[in-house]
Amino acid sequence: MRQFSSLLGCLSVAALAFAQTTNTNNGPYDTLIIRGATMIDGTGAPPRGPVDIVVRRNMIVQVSPSDPIGRAQNGGGAQLAANSSGGAARVIEAAGKYVMPGLIDLHIHYQDSVPLEYQYKLLLGHGVTTVRAFNVGNMSVDEMVAERQRIAENKIVAPRMYVYPFWRNSPTDPRFAIAKDAPEIVKEWKRKGVDGVKMAGLPGEYPDVFKAVADQAKIEGMGLAVHIAQEAVFPMNAVRTALDGASTVEHHYGYAEASFTDRVLQKLPSDYNYASEPDRFYQTGAVWLQADLKKLHTDVIDQLVAQSKKTGFTMVPTMVVYEANRDLERVKTLPWHEKYTMPAIMAHWQPSPSSHGSYFYHWTTTNEADWAKMYRRWMEFVEDFKNRGGLVGVGSDVGSIYTLWGFGTIRELELLQHSGFSPIEVVHSATEIGALSLGNKQLGAIRPGYIADMVVLDENPLDDFKVLYGTGATRQSASGQALQTKAVKYTIRDGVVFDSQALLKDVADMVAKARATKGSTETTAPK
Ligand SMILES: [Zn+2]
Repeated sequence: MRQFSSLLGCLSVAALAFAQTTNTNNGPYDTLIIRGATMIDGTGAPPRGPVDIVVRRNMIVQVSPSDPIGRAQNGGGAQLAANSSGGAARVIEAAGKYVMPGLIDLHIHYQDSVPLEYQYKLLLGHGVTTVRAFNVGNMSVDEMVAERQRIAENKIVAPRMYVYPFWRNSPTDPRFAIAKDAPEIVKEWKRKGVDGVKMAGLPGEYPDVFKAVADQAKIEGMGLAVHIAQEAVFPMNAVRTALDGASTVEHHYGYAEASFTDRVLQKLPSDYNYASEPDRFYQTGAVWLQADLKKLHTDVIDQLVAQSKKTGFTMVPTMVVYEANRDLERVKTLPWHEKYTMPAIMAHWQPSPSSHGSYFYHWTTTNEADWAKMYRRWMEFVEDFKNRGGLVGVGSDVGSIYTLWGFGTIRELELLQHSGFSPIEVVHSATEIGALSLGNKQLGAIRPGYIADMVVLDENPLDDFKVLYGTGATRQSASGQALQTKAVKYTIRDGVVFDSQALLKDVADMVAKARATKGSTETTAPK
């Protein structure tokens, strides 16, 4: 989804960014030990424990068994490591707890309509420690890079950010649309410190412009995330986009079109208009009903898997953001809206021709049935791609269509499991695979020599991802009462330890305050 907001909003965001508190007393530490945890290391290895994990400043330096048998076989080391440090130490007693790498969300937009602090804390509170951001409100490329730097220096409480600005139409810079001039912009962005390019439709997806940008991005070691827009899907379907150099393909676009055998272009009604969002979003799902399933699961997957093995090409489905299309009433009434959804964002989601993604004026059972069928095909496709060796990452694309930062990332984990992934495969996608697609080989796993991004959990996430939601998962108390169990205890980013539930409390307070100020009823689930 793309967001366009007002200049006024941009100014308020900049002010808020500087107003946020810095953290001084929660790390990074000279020595941090997580003692006695059961570890899910992010590499796809099964859980093991108890282990002690030793962190120095922002790096994991040691992972060692802390039980008597494990120590005898491998030598216990956490104690030694702690004693050898003269500096400040912190120990997190984690017996009975779980630890996994911080979650990596590869598809994030930050909006101007709500404070950045709100969006950042929602993500961190759900264990998301790294995001790939396509925009930060209306910040310029330079401002986004500066924001990334403030986060890296722990001046802002936020997940680590990878900056992938939009390649967009520019009234002042025609080079964005000209193949021979486009590489110059990629070079400029590299010099500014940009991590990659986000492509979404024209002019970047003109085939010659796309190839020029992709080739230059490769030279510069930059990523290229592509949302294949319907205006460009012929001839730039998902196979061609991947072969021409995309590092990730976002969403569900371009796969069905790559499978056609009885047509070249999607069959559309004669009154279709891409600029009409109800048309556009119904038909982008309906195209899967025109796919040639045999070719989809042979030629199309074969070529994508080959590219995945060769270049690390990664699929980022973002299933969560389109869920409204198969079950609108469900997403409108999600239990977290009441406490965690800002009135301004709920207002943005109400059906309106002027809000992107708010196209539900006449969304029928028939629309949902077609989208439900599309989801079955899409999920089988993603599962098949993964099983044959293709890389699948986790992205949420939250902020639109009743989806909320953090909650959306967790829902995406659930939807990958619905697709057929085992829970451990889901965690692998959300951690090590995410890091690899960002080109960072020191992130996304709990290993010595890796960056100390971790989540400490009171419950086993592999048993039920719902425990990761800020609203928790429903359990039964000893006396038979229903209670909400919340698992996310600490979110550790770069060795800095955040109390996850305290971050979510901040968010809830911000929402309560905004509602009191607003004093309206539009803040609850829509009528
Ligand atoms: Zn998006």
